[in-house]
Amino acid sequence: MTGTYVSSILVEKCKQCEVCPPIKECPSGAFQRIDPDYPPFIDQEACMGCGVCVEVCPYRAVILVKKV
Ligand code: SF4
Ligand code: SF4
Repeated sequence: MTGTYVSSILVEKCKQCEVCPPIKECPSGAFQRIDPDYPPFIDQEACMGCGVCVEVCPYRAVILVKKV
């Protein structure tokens, strides 16, 4: 399964939390935020599709989508 999916942030649901658990928990460093005034983003090349970020986002703002 890993490699078939990548995660995606639902920007309209993202609360831009001061502490974003997916950034800390992502095992590949794909979940990142450069500017605290904007939602985080996902490096699609680095994402392994493990789904950890989906589990740990408290606002369900992250989903897994099929890689195209
Ligand atoms: S934890 Fe979820 S809602 Fe909060 S900043 Fe991260 S992705 Fe957005
Ligand atoms: S699916 Fe896994 S590798 Fe991809 S951003 Fe989420 S936690 Fe990181």
